[in-house]
Amino acid sequence: MTPSPIAWSRGARQALPAMRAWRASFHEDPELSGQEVRTRGRVLEALKELGIPARTFTDGSQGVVGLIAGERAGPVVALRADMDALPVTERTSLPFRSKRPGVMHACGHDVHLASLLGAGLILSKNPRALGGPVKLLFQPAEEEGTVGGALPLIQQGALDDPRVNFVVGQHVDPGLRLGTVGWGVGPFMAAADFFRIRVRGHAGHASTPQQGPDAVLAASEVVTGLQAIASRVRDPCDPVVISVGSIHGGTRDNILPEEVVLEGTVRTVRPATRDLIERALKRRVRSLTASLGARAAITYRRGYPALINPAPATETVVRALEVELGRRALVHVSQPLMGAEDFARYLEKVPGTFLRLGVGADGPPASLHSPTFAPDETAMVYGAATLAAAAVGLQHGAG
Ligand SMILES: [Zn+2]
Ligand SMILES: [Zn+2]
Repeated sequence: MTPSPIAWSRGARQALPAMRAWRASFHEDPELSGQEVRTRGRVLEALKELGIPARTFTDGSQGVVGLIAGERAGPVVALRADMDALPVTERTSLPFRSKRPGVMHACGHDVHLASLLGAGLILSKNPRALGGPVKLLFQPAEEEGTVGGALPLIQQGALDDPRVNFVVGQHVDPGLRLGTVGWGVGPFMAAADFFRIRVRGHAGHASTPQQGPDAVLAASEVVTGLQAIASRVRDPCDPVVISVGSIHGGTRDNILPEEVVLEGTVRTVRPATRDLIERALKRRVRSLTASLGARAAITYRRGYPALINPAPATETVVRALEVELGRRALVHVSQPLMGAEDFARYLEKVPGTFLRLGVGADGPPASLHSPTFAPDETAMVYGAATLAAAAVGLQHGAG
């Protein structure tokens, strides 16, 4: 038995007041990555009110996994929301704006949390509609960027007992209109790697540069030389971004510093390209600095892998959402975003899909991570209905 097409959206509309209240409580009390203690408390409280049993973790992770057993032993679908906020000082006029100075839910994770609770509400009220159990994954530390929150949750068994067959997540997107959902197959978001390059030369008077290698000049060559990797080493149809975000060195105009430190990020969407760029970057930096007599010490650290949406699960979800929200609500996203997302870690383990939830209004959209980011709350109706319909669609489509 599949639920009637509009059931989830109708349920989600009725759940909007509850979702608003949850969202307001998350929004006004935001917490940074890895510190989501009060957020976890609120999630546990809400799950208790909904009668959904929950599991917490012992490793210091603030994760919570709720389990809606359903009435059938079919495919297990996990739905995921991230919990953390950002070091941003809020500049909205919302009545529930952040009470924590310098911390804000500027990436919409409060909306993700409330939408997941909303999905939990409507799914748990309709256990007969489920084709199997549904897990609600509340994941900390998405913004952390290196280890993240997904990996520790997976390592602690969040995808086991019962074993998860599919996973679905979503992120608000101000570039998509409210009421629409963006989907895509294949590379959907980038892998993000970090590098730090210490360029060492000769410290001395700026009027006598002939006395030794100039770290400032060598660092400048590195900054421009890296762009030749981005544009010349890989296939032009395979996206790569290399950006140097910080340069530090020197104290005043007439002193050549011994060291200049560059930090930056590399974004790729294919694993083979990720390996290629790492090797090329190290080689290029060494040869560029050596050609000027300087030396380079390179730290290269891999962050989140690329998020790749597998075709069958994504297509099953899209079919379910077309029925639930109407064909016109579905927006095919053909280009990957070069941002990163640790939802990719789940997709390395189980099939599923990651979606974009439209929150865009008329006029220029306030971007994610901005101090004025204030998505329309009715997006949570679509967010909750999307998660519920995706879960049940995968269970029935896969059953
Ligand atoms: Zn973010
Ligand atoms: Zn985010």
